Amino acid sequence: MKKHNFYAGPSILPDEVYRQAKAAIDDFAGTGVSVLSVSHRSKEYVAVMEKARALAKELMGLDDDFEVLYLQGGASMQFLQIPYNLMRTKAAYLDTGTWAGKAIKETRYFGQTEVVASSADRQYRYIPKDYDIPADADYFHITTNNTIYGTQMHNIPESPVPIVADMSSDIFSRRMDFNRFGLIYAGAQKNMGPAGATLVAVRKSLLGKTGREIPTMMDYRTHIAKGSMFNTPPAFSVFVVMLTLEWVKRQGGIKAMEERNEAKARLLYDELDRNPLFVPLVDKPDRSRMNVTFVLSDEGLQERFDRMWQDAGIVGLKGHRSVGGYRASLYNALPIESVRVLVDVMRELERKA
Ligand SMILES: *Cc1c(COP(=O)(O)O)cnc(C)c1O
Repeated sequence: MKKHNFYAGPSILPDEVYRQAKAAIDDFAGTGVSVLSVSHRSKEYVAVMEKARALAKELMGLDDDFEVLYLQGGASMQFLQIPYNLMRTKAAYLDTGTWAGKAIKETRYFGQTEVVASSADRQYRYIPKDYDIPADADYFHITTNNTIYGTQMHNIPESPVPIVADMSSDIFSRRMDFNRFGLIYAGAQKNMGPAGATLVAVRKSLLGKTGREIPTMMDYRTHIAKGSMFNTPPAFSVFVVMLTLEWVKRQGGIKAMEERNEAKARLLYDELDRNPLFVPLVDKPDRSRMNVTFVLSDEGLQERFDRMWQDAGIVGLKGHRSVGGYRASLYNALPIESVRVLVDVMRELERKA
């Protein structure tokens, strides 16, 4: 690809994955048919779905209680599908920003919600630390990386109840004990593939306990029973997720991703901390290694800075419309060279200002 792609999502994928996806649009797995036009019931496609499910489980080291599904409706559908399937009477949520807030909003259809802590008091620029998780909650919901504000949970708290985690923007980016969770979900379009599929890894032992009737499509057990193919899956998206997970594995798995992501984040934060023209937005201990948010110390430099990074071949650096400023998304597939180009532009701005 010719541009340095810092978009927050849909976002950059590995060059190899683009090439493989293109080739499969012409001829999928030697079938003589495009991957866009092959039946999801063909043995070649069933193998893709099975591989995409197995690779996610393998890379995260999930135990056998977990089932991996690829569903539609985005992470946003999970905001309601989770309480539908897991909430008997009450759930606990940590409010770390817009996505957490949207997840909290959907729970009111299903029961009582306790927001254990919020960082709304300082525009979500930190992760709340001291709070109690009620032992009578059915689960505790967190957002491990806050894509819009640029915060990330570097410690997952001890919890007396199963932890449900929205990992949309940092899945497969860092090591964690994934078996500590009850349910993990992520829209594909940030770190795994094109929009369309949403990964859900759920513990079977948590299901079927609400006493509530669940419509067929909303019930995780429907999708588990049918190997994530109850109805037509988002076939192309899952295919590209499979290619991306194969790429992650070839690179050395999540550990290798973590090392690269740390190096990229360090390079950019070091420059933001050094260069007096830039102000990082998030408290140091809670800074995200995936989405780096910052502003200019002098807004008068905006036009010049914008022209400079665009001339350097950078796209996608504008902050979310609710926050303003800038956001550099450093997902797995972004090469460190792209971060170097951005840092060079920042230094050049300093020299010229
Ligand atoms: C992007 C994002 C979402 C929303 O995902 P959709 O697939 O668009 O519904 C939810 N949570 C987080 C953390 C995100 O980054």
